[in-house]
Amino acid sequence: MDTGINVDDIFEPNHRAGPRRGDFRHWAGPDRRACHGEVSAETPTGTVWPTIHKDPSALAVPPHLADYARECSSFTWQGARQHLDGLPGGALNIAHEAVDRHAVGPRAQHEALRFVRADGAVESLTYAVLAERTARFAGLLRALGLKEGARVFSLLGRRPELYTAVLGTLKAGGVFCPLFSAFGPDPVRQRLRLGGAQVLVTTRSLYRKKVAALRPDCPDLRHVLLVDADGDPEPDTLDLAALLQTAEPLAETVPTRPGDYALLHFTSGTTGTPKGALHVHEAVVAHWATGRYALDLHQGDVYWCTADPGWVTGTSYGIIAPLVHGVTAVVDEEELDVDRWYRILAAERVGVWYTAPTALRMLMKAGAERASGHDLSALRFVASVGEPLNPEVVLWGQEALGLPVHDNWWQTETGGIMISNYAAMDIRPGSMGRPLPGVEATVLQRDRDGRPVLEHGEALPVEHPGEVGELALRPGWPSMFRGYLNEDERYRKCFVGGWYLTGDLATRDADGYYWFVGRGDDVIKSSGHLIGPFEVESALMEHPAVAEAGVIGVPDPVAGELVKAFLELRPGYEGGEALRLDILGFARRRLGAAVAPREIDFVAALPHTRSGKVLRRLLRARELGLPEGDVSTLEARP
Ligand code: ATP
Ligand code: MG
Repeated sequence: MDTGINVDDIFEPNHRAGPRRGDFRHWAGPDRRACHGEVSAETPTGTVWPTIHKDPSALAVPPHLADYARECSSFTWQGARQHLDGLPGGALNIAHEAVDRHAVGPRAQHEALRFVRADGAVESLTYAVLAERTARFAGLLRALGLKEGARVFSLLGRRPELYTAVLGTLKAGGVFCPLFSAFGPDPVRQRLRLGGAQVLVTTRSLYRKKVAALRPDCPDLRHVLLVDADGDPEPDTLDLAALLQTAEPLAETVPTRPGDYALLHFTSGTTGTPKGALHVHEAVVAHWATGRYALDLHQGDVYWCTADPGWVTGTSYGIIAPLVHGVTAVVDEEELDVDRWYRILAAERVGVWYTAPTALRMLMKAGAERASGHDLSALRFVASVGEPLNPEVVLWGQEALGLPVHDNWWQTETGGIMISNYAAMDIRPGSMGRPLPGVEATVLQRDRDGRPVLEHGEALPVEHPGEVGELALRPGWPSMFRGYLNEDERYRKCFVGGWYLTGDLATRDADGYYWFVGRGDDVIKSSGHLIGPFEVESALMEHPAVAEAGVIGVPDPVAGELVKAFLELRPGYEGGEALRLDILGFARRRLGAAVAPREIDFVAALPHTRSGKVLRRLLRARELGLPEGDVSTLEARP
């Protein structure tokens, strides 16, 4: 379909690289023939993968395509804000946009949240019920004497009380911080103290196991509300259900300013001690826009984000973006299980699914046939975030789900999706996609110390497509974090030469697609070469024996650093000398002598963060006999 609009003008107005394609293609709908592949140029990891085209000629054109083209060509953040209600006097409150405005109109009786219990039973909350419950929670905070700006934390699984606490706190003008319920006592203590938590919502057993003993260390923590007290709270705690019954609902959502703090989110702790990123109410403008363009959300959709609100994805896209769009958000109260997940996709008729590479890899390992007994015909869009998405997984999606997987990139600090393979665009497997409307991205040159190269105060972008540099964003998007808690200096250092530095290294190809290379801290310098661990790991994973790889640099007096790989093997393989030599030879042929690992260790399991990322800094610390540093987000593995 010819919209008469050049896609490059729409989606990346500031992109400076060479020639680009000008087709605007959309693909959504049950007709899976609308996708076809074609061999594209070599990717930065050296493998040839097909570009996945979305061919609208095989489909009836979805009615919103023309809207997208028109909107995006003149996109501004101010314009996006017009799609929200706002409150009198220029006030803006996330909870009003996500809940209240739907609760007074024709969508009041529409399902807002649909919880799937362990036994498969479903509990739904309509927008009207959610509005009432959140107003009660807000009223309760007032009754407890908490003022605007109060810090409310949760240590809870994905159950209805978590969602009403988040939105109720925002209604009351408080700041919410959801903690991952599987954290041990130390990470809980660290975050409650650093965040100055005044209220904690949790369960009896989590309280007993992780919180009771550390109450004396948290002098700010005035109230602990138990969701399952059943009329008999623990000492020094309150019965949330009983209090809510008698609480006077807050009559009006607090008219917060767009720049008022709303959420506190800790990063995953992949590169060091987790940082507390502060987000403001204005972020909701970005949640609206990215929900529309990156996740293709539309009213009436059933949508499932598998992330826990303990990580930013589970809040921005597990709560705010879907509710702002008035869709039904499915919440699975259980953990990942292959058959259960396929059952939920089929039984709940999920249309849009947002998940993570680690989960998709697990489904892939289980085999595409596990999907075959399930009716996935409602599914029309699948997206992934969190770490690099292997090209194999994108293509596996076509086979098992009938759809390719759309990778997108963002961080706790950005508050929302910044770079994405969105619905309307051809996919290059292995690429994170292109910047969304309103987002200006670049790849910056780095000096020897890894700092940006400045000219007249402005940081310089790399000169050629494919050159590695630091991924940077022009500050000013609404969901940008406004500080690291108690770390002003660290926050200031993120902004250099007119850009926000992401700490990730990337390349951009001639068509404006971005490719992840590695985290700045993980990049290896060997004999003058800059080596991204992702590149080496991806090549190693193409060897039939390798299930997962973690690659680090170890000091070497001659080369500076040498590449060392830690490998988890697939079932049926034994890690002996012959296999080691075979893999070393394979890597050398694939990557060249300068980049291939010199050493390989076989390990039973690689260390991961709880949000699913390989903890290379821990591999390095263990290898060099250094202190392990902050391992509070380390996943406990058998
Ligand atoms: P910390 O900042 O504490 O070290 P973290 O960076 O892992 O932890 P998050 O904010 O949860 O914490 O993760 C964001 C990071 O995850 C990105 O900076 C990037 O390194 C990685 N990431 C996210 N999405 C993608 C993606 N699509 N491709 C590659 N990497 C990704
Ligand atoms: Mg980070």
